[in-house]
Amino acid sequence: MPSLSDCQHILRSVFGYDQFRGEQAAIVEHVCQGGDALVLMPTGGGKSLCYQIPAIARAQAGLGVCLVVSPLIALMHDQVGALHEAGVSAAFLNSTLSHEEAHQIEQALLRGELTLLYAAPERVNNSRFLALLDALAAQGRLGLFAIDEAHCVSQWGHDFRPEYRALTLLHERYPQVPRLALTATADALTREDIVERLQLQDARQFVSSFDRPNIRYTIVEKQTPLQQLLRFVREHEGDSGIVYCQSRRKVESVAEALVEAGYAALPYHAGLDSSVRQHHQDRFLREEGLIMVATIAFGMGIDKPDVRFVAHLDMPKNIEGYYQETGRAGRDGLPAQAWMVYGLADVVQQRRMIDESPASDEFKRVQRGKLDALLGLAEASDCRRVRLLAYFGEESHACGNCDNCLQPPATWDATEAARMLLSTIYRIAQHDGRSFGAGHLMDVVRGKANDKTALYGHDQLSTWGVGQQYSEAQLRSVLRQLLAMGAVAVRGGDFNTLELNDASRPVLRGEVPVLLREPSHPAAARGQRRPARLGAVVKAPVALDSGGLLRYSALKAWRAQVARDHNLPAYVIFHDATLAAIAQRQPQSLGDLEGISGMGSQKLQAYGEAVLHVLEELAQAQ
Ligand code: ADP
Ligand code: ZN
Repeated sequence: MPSLSDCQHILRSVFGYDQFRGEQAAIVEHVCQGGDALVLMPTGGGKSLCYQIPAIARAQAGLGVCLVVSPLIALMHDQVGALHEAGVSAAFLNSTLSHEEAHQIEQALLRGELTLLYAAPERVNNSRFLALLDALAAQGRLGLFAIDEAHCVSQWGHDFRPEYRALTLLHERYPQVPRLALTATADALTREDIVERLQLQDARQFVSSFDRPNIRYTIVEKQTPLQQLLRFVREHEGDSGIVYCQSRRKVESVAEALVEAGYAALPYHAGLDSSVRQHHQDRFLREEGLIMVATIAFGMGIDKPDVRFVAHLDMPKNIEGYYQETGRAGRDGLPAQAWMVYGLADVVQQRRMIDESPASDEFKRVQRGKLDALLGLAEASDCRRVRLLAYFGEESHACGNCDNCLQPPATWDATEAARMLLSTIYRIAQHDGRSFGAGHLMDVVRGKANDKTALYGHDQLSTWGVGQQYSEAQLRSVLRQLLAMGAVAVRGGDFNTLELNDASRPVLRGEVPVLLREPSHPAAARGQRRPARLGAVVKAPVALDSGGLLRYSALKAWRAQVARDHNLPAYVIFHDATLAAIAQRQPQSLGDLEGISGMGSQKLQAYGEAVLHVLEELAQAQ
C-alpha cells in the first residue's frame, strides 16, 4: 500500500506543490490505504487532488485504475487535458466520443495503461461498461472509485440527478474497491442523504472548514438592479466574472446591456443550443476578462481559478446554492467578490415557487426553512461570513471582509417589537391552544380588527394593538429576523403558523437585543458605500516592479499561444500565480525554475526551456 510520503512525493513532482492543504493529507493517506471516505470541502478547497493523488499512488503500486464518476461531461476534456499536462495518463468515456475513440480508450484501459478514467454516471447502467469493469476487477485492476459532486445523489441537494442513485451498484458489485465521495455541499441533511444513498455508513468523513477568506461578501437591497450591477462591474474592469439571473429572458437582456456598456459578456442558459452553450463555456474558460451572464445551469465543476467576481441579480433558493455559486469566485486564493442584490419580490417569487410545486409537504417545509435561512443572511446587520459558516455548523468571528464588517449598517432597535410579537404568540397559544400565521399575528399586534380577529376574540387579548406604531413592513422584517435567529419556529403544514421555542425566551425577556437593518434609500445608495476602505480588488497575484510586470505579460502571451495550440484553457498550462512567481524570480536556468509552486517535473521538462527563452528574448529586446 502506498504511504503518505509517496503521496507527498507525487504532490511535489507531479503537481509542483509544496504542501497538502487542510485535510488533503489525511484524506489521501486514508484512501491510499484502501479506506472509504466522504469528503466535504468548499469549492476551491482542492478536492481534485484528494482522488488524483491516491489514484496515481495506487496505480504506481499496481493496484489499478481509478474510475472518476462526474456529471460534468462538458468539462471532462479539459480535466483530462490538465492531467496530461502534468504527465498523468487519463482518459474519459462519454457521449461526445466517436465509437472508434471510445473503443481505443477501452483497449487502453484493458491494457492497464490508464491511471484515471472519467465517466458520466449513466455509464454505470450500461452493460458494455460494466463488462469492462468486470474484466478489470477480475484482474484486480480496479483500484478506486471517486464519486465527484456527490450531492447530486440527494434530493435535498440542489443538483439532484436520478442517475446518481444507480451508483450504489458499484459498491454492490465491487465491494472490495475503496470509494471516495466528494462534494462542496455540506448542510447536514444533504450529507446524511449522501451517506444513506451511497451506502457510505462506514466511510470516514472529512469535513473541512467552509471558509473562503479571500471572498468578500456583499448583499444589497435591490433598487435599480441593472444600474447597480453596472456600478459594481466597473470595479472589475478586465476581470472574469459570472452574473447569475433567474430567467433565460433576463440572462439575455442583462448580457446585452453589459455588451452595450462596453463589456465582453456572453449569455448561458438551458434554452440555448447545446453547441452555443459549449462554445460560450469554452470562451469563458479560455479567454481572459469575459463576463458570463447565466442561469444556474452554468457553473458546476467550472474550475477556472481566476474568476474575480460572482454577482447575483436574483436570490438563489437557499444558502447551499448561494455558497456554491459564490464559491466559483477566487479559487486561486486571490481577492474576489461575491455580490448580490435582493428584494421582496425575490422572496415572494421563491416562496410561490415552493408553494406551487407538486412536491411533498415535507419537501416544501424543508425548502421553506432553507429559504428563510438565506433571508436571514440577506437581512443580517452583523458579519455575513459568521452567519454563512454558522449555517454549515462552524463557529467563527467577525471577518473584516464582508460589507457589514467593513461598513456596519445603520440599525434600529426592534427589541420591543420582537417582544410584542413573541408575547402575542404566547397569549394566543394560551387562549386557543394553537398557533396562527404571521399575517394574523401582525394584525393582533397592530390592533387591526377584521373578521378573524373578532371570530377568535383576539381583540380581547392583553397585547391587542400594543404595536400600533409599527408598520406591517417593519413587523414583517422583525419576524423575518426572529425566524433567521431561530427565536421563533414555523410549524409546517398548510398554514406555516408560528410558535415559540427555547430560543424565544431570552428575547421575550428582553435579554437579547434585536437590531435590524434600516432600509437603505436609493438616493443614498448612489454616492455612498464607496469609502476608501473598500478599495479596489488587487489584480496582480504578487507585487511586481515594472520589469516584473513586463516579464509577467510576456509569459502570459506565451502561455496563451501554448494553450491555443493544445486546445486547453490557459490556467491548465500554468496558473497566473505560477507565471508571476517566475517573473519575480527571473530564472537563469532550469534549476532556478524548480520548486516554483505549480511547476511539476513534467511541466518543467515540457516548458522550462521555452519559459527561459521567453525571458531571454525579452531581456535582449530591452
Ligand atoms: P475543488 O475541486 O475543491 O473546487 P480544485 O481541486 O479545483 O478545487 O482546487 C482548487 C485550486 O487549488 C486548483 O487550482 C488546485 O491546483 C489548487 N490546489 C489544490 N491543492 C493544492 C495544494 N496542496 N497546494 C497548492 N495548490 C493547490
Ligand atoms: Zn464579516
